[in-house]
Order: sequence, then C-alpha cells, then structure tokens
Amino acid sequence: MVSRTQIGIVGAGPAGLMLGHLLHLRGIDSVIVEDRGRDHVIDRVRAGVLEQGTVDLMREVGVGTRLDVEGLRHEGIYIAFGGERYRIDLARLTGGRAITVYGQNEVVKDLIAAREHTGRPLHFDASDVRVHDIASDHPRLSFCAAGQPHDVRCDFIAGCDGFHGVCRPTVPTGHLRIYEREYPFAWLGILANAAPSSEELVYSLHERGFALFSMRSPSVTRLYLQCATDEDIAQWPDERIWNELRVRLSTHDGWAPHEGQITQKGVTPMRSFVAEPMQYGSLFLAGDAAHIVPPTGAKGLNLAVADVWRLACAMGEYYESGSRGLLEGYSSAALRRTWRAQRFSWWMTSMLHRSDDPNPFDHKRQLAELENLVSSEAAMASLAENYVGLPLG
Ligand SMILES: Cc1cc2nc3c(=O)[nH]c(=O)nc-3n(C[C@H](O)[C@H](O)[C@H](O)COP(=O)(O)OP(=O)(O)OC[C@H]3O[C@@H](n4cnc5c(N)ncnc54)[C@H](O)[C@@H]3O)c2cc1C
Repeated sequence: MVSRTQIGIVGAGPAGLMLGHLLHLRGIDSVIVEDRGRDHVIDRVRAGVLEQGTVDLMREVGVGTRLDVEGLRHEGIYIAFGGERYRIDLARLTGGRAITVYGQNEVVKDLIAAREHTGRPLHFDASDVRVHDIASDHPRLSFCAAGQPHDVRCDFIAGCDGFHGVCRPTVPTGHLRIYEREYPFAWLGILANAAPSSEELVYSLHERGFALFSMRSPSVTRLYLQCATDEDIAQWPDERIWNELRVRLSTHDGWAPHEGQITQKGVTPMRSFVAEPMQYGSLFLAGDAAHIVPPTGAKGLNLAVADVWRLACAMGEYYESGSRGLLEGYSSAALRRTWRAQRFSWWMTSMLHRSDDPNPFDHKRQLAELENLVSSEAAMASLAENYVGLPLG
C-alpha cells in the first residue's frame, strides 16, 4: 500500500507521540509507526518527573487535563546524607517553578488518546520498520502492519525510536560522532503499593550506595537502589529490598519509607550517550534515539519533549514560509540543551553514587560536595534551576 504524508514518525514513545500532536496542531500531516503493541507502550513504567516546561507545554497543547488533576506538583526535594535530610526549595530558588510527578505511561496514555481523537494514522505492532533514501528530499518509510505492507512517501522522517531503534543506524558510517560513558553501577527500581511517607522526593547518599525515594501517586511509591550492572534480580526477594531501602534511606529524625506490596522490579543500566549531529539529510533524530542520560537528574523524558517541541517549530516554519532556517539550526540548538542536561545528570550521578574504589578519597569528597550544596544558596539555586528545567526556547 503506497501512501504519502508530510512527516514519517518512527516510534510512539513520548517523543514520537508529542511530535505528532504538535504537528497536527500546525495542520501538518504525519504517520506514526510503532513496533510494539498499544498496551505494552502504555504499561511501560519509566520516568515520572516532569519539568515545569514540559507541564506548561502539555497544558498549552491541550493534553494537560488529567495531569492537572492527578499530577503531584512538588516545590522541593530532599537531599539526605549522614542521617540528615536537607530540603531544597525549588520554587523559592527559581521564582515559582517546580516539578510535577506524573508517570511517563500516563503522559503516553494522554498523547495516544489525543492522537486517536485526530484520526491521523498511528500503527502499533508494526514489523520490519525501515527508513529509506534519507540522503534525498524524498525519504520513505516502509513497514508491515495488520498484515499489510506499507510504503509511505514523506518530506521528512523523525527518528523518535529510542536508543535501540532503526533510524540512527541508517545514518552512513562516519556521519555521526558518538560520545559515550557507561557507569559501573545500575539502579534496581521497584513500584510498591504504599502511600508515600514524604510529599517530596528524597535523594540519598549512604555508605552502602545511592537510594532514591519517589512516588507515582498518593498510593504508589517508586524506589530505587544503586546496584551492580550485572545484578541478578532473583537474588533480591522483597524483604531484602525493604531492608536495604530502610538502611539507606532512614534518617535520624525517624523518617523512613512506608512499605507495601512490591508490584514491579527491574534493573536499569546507567549510561550517558550523545550522537552528533541530530540530523542527516531528511532524517531528524529526537529523544533517546539521539541521547541517553543517567536517570539521576530526571531529564530523559523532558529532553525528548524539548527536542520535539523544537523540531515541530522548525517544521512549522518550513511549511508556513518555505524557510529551512530553523530546520538547519535544529541539531545545534537541541545539542546545546542536551549537553547542559548531560552535565547536570553526570554531576548528580557522581555526587550521589558510591564507587567501588577502596580509596576513601572520593566518598569524603562527595560528602564535602553535599555539605557545600546544602549550605550554599548559590549551589542550591544552581541545582534548582537545572532540576526544574531550563526554559524551552
Ligand atoms: C528501561 C528504562 C527505564 C527508564 N527509567 C527512567 C526513570 O526511572 N527516570 C527517568 O527520568 N528516565 C527514565 N528512563 C528514560 C526515559 O524513559 C526516556 O528518556 C524516554 O522514554 C525517552 O522518550 P523517547 O520517546 O525518546 O524514547 P522511548 O520512550 O524509548 O520511545 C521510543 C519508541 O520507539 C519504539 N521503537 C523502537 N524501535 C522501533 C522500530 N524499529 N520501529 C518502530 N518503533 C520502534 C519503541 O518501542 C518506543 O515505543 C528510562 C528509560 C528506559 C529505557
């Protein structure tokens, strides 16, 4: 089946779905193709912290109704070490900006509903997804969906297909420069049916390693423990997880996470990755397809949204005026934000995770870094500005 669209979008994660929606609002047609099923895409538990700019954008483009009801606005976070918790007042330090806890799967659910409402194509369970002729002005997207082969002629293709997708590898060798760092630890994450015992997130450095207390809703807690990269989840029965969380998170004021039934467990590797540039010919990369950050700074989903906001503006300018100015500037502008987020995510990660190095120097340096952070308005303001997110523009 041969068809035509303006933008072929590969991937129905936050980047692909938000791009499709932003383009629709500008009257630009797109086809979104996703190789996983609708339920799988919706049920995938991943990020959960939205920057102020992401929240503002969702409201502005009409997908913020449920977010406004169910999202948990947080005006601060806690940093814990040495048995004490210190609050960083994000809103006071940033002129009223904050973060909102709202699961990535909820964002995806809202965006799928918005897409389905438009009636524009969104193909789930596609197989053999490929992009062709990306060096030309007439790229194509081919795939098989519902038993039918599709060949879609496009003006541009947006590679929003995540780190393991097909778009980035189609760029010919030598045209992308890769910057990468793998970390010698991972996160063991759980979801638990337990009411959060703190209204705000708690990031903790303990001598046994990092731990993070967060939540998804008034009745669901999300917790993470630093673990080995090859950690065997089978070695972590629920009781061991709660013991370790209690040890790493409890503070002298008597605070500890509430415990409950664990409904999901998983190990997430930690990686920093950037592919430059984020464009080749008619192919534009966005989100995890172009960059990965370790989750400590809560930037991955927000960066994906910032990329596609910029890309939609650029494509909008092209269709309105014929100018390619913003399209040509897309990669360098998106990379500038990406590297700011990489720096912040790396800094948070290196400040809060234990290294295996038996030399105690680094741990003492980390404690000094944390002391400096919680005792300096300037240092707290710098964390706050980056954590709530830089303005989109
Ligand atoms: C396992 C995991 C856990 C994470 N946990 C956290 C966390 O706790 N906190 C945090 O801040 N961030 C987390 N992140 C990061 C955050 O979720 C991502 O940055 C965010 O999902 C990026 O959105 P995206 O749309 O660019 O990519 P994705 O969400 O990866 O979406 C890409 C989409 O493309 C689809 N796709 C892939 N290949 C193809 C193909 N060949 N054809 C068609 N479609 C394809 C995928 O199925 C997917 O739906 C996590 C990421 C992962 C992978």
